[in-house]
Amino acid sequence: MKHINFDNKKVLIRVDFNVPLDDQLHVTDSTRIEKAIPTLKYILEQGGTLIVCTHLGRPKPSTDNAKYSTMHLKDTFSALLRKEVKFVNDCVGDVVSSAVAALKKGDVLLLENTRFYKEETEGEPEFSKQLASLADIYINDAFGTAHRAHASTTTVANYFDKYHKGFGFLMDAEVSNGLKVLHDAESPFTAIVGGAKVSDKIQLLENLIAKADNILIGGGMAYTFIKSTGGEIGKSLCENEFLELAKEILAKAGDKGCKIYLPEDSVSASVFGADAETKVVPSNTISPEWMGLDIGPLAVDAFSKVIMASKTIIWNGPMGVFEFEKFSNGTFAIAHAVAAATKNGAFSLIGGGDSVSAINKAGLEDSVSFVSTGGGAMLEMLEGKILPGVAAIQE
Ligand code: AMP
Repeated sequence: MKHINFDNKKVLIRVDFNVPLDDQLHVTDSTRIEKAIPTLKYILEQGGTLIVCTHLGRPKPSTDNAKYSTMHLKDTFSALLRKEVKFVNDCVGDVVSSAVAALKKGDVLLLENTRFYKEETEGEPEFSKQLASLADIYINDAFGTAHRAHASTTTVANYFDKYHKGFGFLMDAEVSNGLKVLHDAESPFTAIVGGAKVSDKIQLLENLIAKADNILIGGGMAYTFIKSTGGEIGKSLCENEFLELAKEILAKAGDKGCKIYLPEDSVSASVFGADAETKVVPSNTISPEWMGLDIGPLAVDAFSKVIMASKTIIWNGPMGVFEFEKFSNGTFAIAHAVAAATKNGAFSLIGGGDSVSAINKAGLEDSVSFVSTGGGAMLEMLEGKILPGVAAIQE
């Protein structure tokens, strides 16, 4: 974006203003709008005129229009930008072309929800072309939707040459930090992978095995691995159909010189619940009626040692059912270890929904190097996939 001349130019910017609204349709958390402000201010300071587009929620085309109108965002957006924001109740068509034609240098126009058109999620070219026709320059600052080949996030970029499109600051930070860990990681590189299911993390593990020196596996997904090596896991989460694959991943990691650590002990529970009776046991001898809901103290120690000796760390997925206090210790202890390693000079990236809420809950979001805002998008990036929204700008 820094190489583009915005002076006297109309700029179509795709942001992620998909914020929560209450019953009265007031914004209850404006974080996503706040995060886009630096990019928007920069373009205005450079003499640009802004045409801002976003999706909001998952409206069913034409039936949910009142509820999901971006008009509900206008006042919050205007207050945060400290500037008048104009609104037009469509995102393509004559009414929008007229509103755009009436803009003066430095004006800000917010378009209606792009998902009011099914063509948006279809990435439909004609709709994308209409969006593109509104502006001289296209900027994408919506990393959270960069893994979707939608019209306003991807296809629209095809109608701008490489000198007239770019990433906003948010998107740029996400992409460069993601690429840094994937292609430029200082060794030892440790990936911490947790969460509920192995099936959700297979591609992530396959990609990381080839890159990381260590992978620490926690959370519910660890038990499929433990069972695959002959462990007794009681009623812990297990995906039996993935036992073979778990074995293969362990073998493949060995071949590639990537060390996989499974939790030596677990906090096991009598039932799945906040008030369950608990006992700490070796992870491979969990009683038949019990289930592992957190990594135990030996695992915390072993994992923390590896983390403290690392120079690059990525973390995706909690170590246990951290929503329940009794089973949150492992996740928070790992959060503290990542923060301590960062203080020692490691680069740490927290990517993916629940590890982001865990680091926030631990109050450590400022003690790690980068917290990704794009759950699914960052997961796909770490899986080694090319994100369509990123590729469309780089082409
Ligand atoms: P994911 O979205 O795959 O990262 O999974 C996050 C969810 O996994 C959280 O809601 C956790 O409560 C859950 N989880 C983590 N560890 C376990 C476990 N040992 N047993 C059951 N669920 C777990």
